[in-house]
Amino acid sequence: MKKTLAHFRTWFKFMILAILAAFFIVGAISFFYKPVYSVTLGDEIIGYSENKSALQEKINQYIEKGNGQNVAFVEIAELPEYQLCFSKKDIVTNDEEIFNKVIGQGTTYYKYYAITLNGEEKYYVATFEEAEKVISDLKEKNSSNKEQLGTIEKYEMELKDFTTVETCVASLYEKPVVKTTTTKKSSGGSSAGIYATGSNATTAKVNIGISFIRPTSGVLTSRYGRRWGRGHAGIDIGAAKGTAIKAAASGTVTYSQYGYNGGYGNYLIITHGNGVQTVYGHCNTLIAKTGQKVSQGQTIATVGNTGNSTGNHLHFEVRVNGVTQNPLNYVSY
Ligand SMILES: [Zn+2]
Repeated sequence: MKKTLAHFRTWFKFMILAILAAFFIVGAISFFYKPVYSVTLGDEIIGYSENKSALQEKINQYIEKGNGQNVAFVEIAELPEYQLCFSKKDIVTNDEEIFNKVIGQGTTYYKYYAITLNGEEKYYVATFEEAEKVISDLKEKNSSNKEQLGTIEKYEMELKDFTTVETCVASLYEKPVVKTTTTKKSSGGSSAGIYATGSNATTAKVNIGISFIRPTSGVLTSRYGRRWGRGHAGIDIGAAKGTAIKAAASGTVTYSQYGYNGGYGNYLIITHGNGVQTVYGHCNTLIAKTGQKVSQGQTIATVGNTGNSTGNHLHFEVRVNGVTQNPLNYVSY
């Protein structure tokens, strides 16, 4: 009986010691070491993570849904492996770096939108809303190519440069059709042949909210409207070569070019706002340059006989949203 008791005491002491030792070891380990996951991709350890589930979740989210911007999804060749290990406490964990390495070895597919004209991709925008806005703006402006426009949802490995909605609209906009053709007049006279055809040439007065002054002194030699079975897109004012041509109203010169220019010769266009433009054709010299702001009455060019013209005169047009108007509704000669 005594022997058994002594044996038990020895065993008890040993147990106490063993438990203390265990506590000490665990304490020492947890003081110097901590559990982390080593992350392996291929054969290479790419880092250590303390929070395996959060890292996995982040990677999976990215693979499935991208970054919510233009990355649509990512095709990953290989997913990383995680292994629990105890590491010294001062080990550097690098979840961010692991994440970047994992998604970096994948193929990223970008999602964006193309604006098409006749099926050809013209511009790229980031979102569906922007693509819709481009199309609806151009429809609202009654762009003549509105039926040829479209959008395509793109999934590509390469991200394109995006264009702003404003630039897309400005670049794709085409004025509603006003066909201008030219005809040589067989006998002399000062009128040139710039004609509008179709139903776009109107004679009813449109209120433009701008008052014009006479663009040049001279004599009215041809009226607006039908002439020899075709429409004349403006009025002709006969004047001596070199007579000053003045801006009918303030605005910005949006076109100023020498050349034949489809019969207009050296001509310029001033854009006034409210969709209103004035056109000055057959000039001898162009004084105002494209992009220049001009004030009403400022000399912008001189009268000439360039393009399809048989005498020195100014061909003057008024356009509202691209449709020619009768200039005599706004200036008197
Ligand atoms: Zn004319």
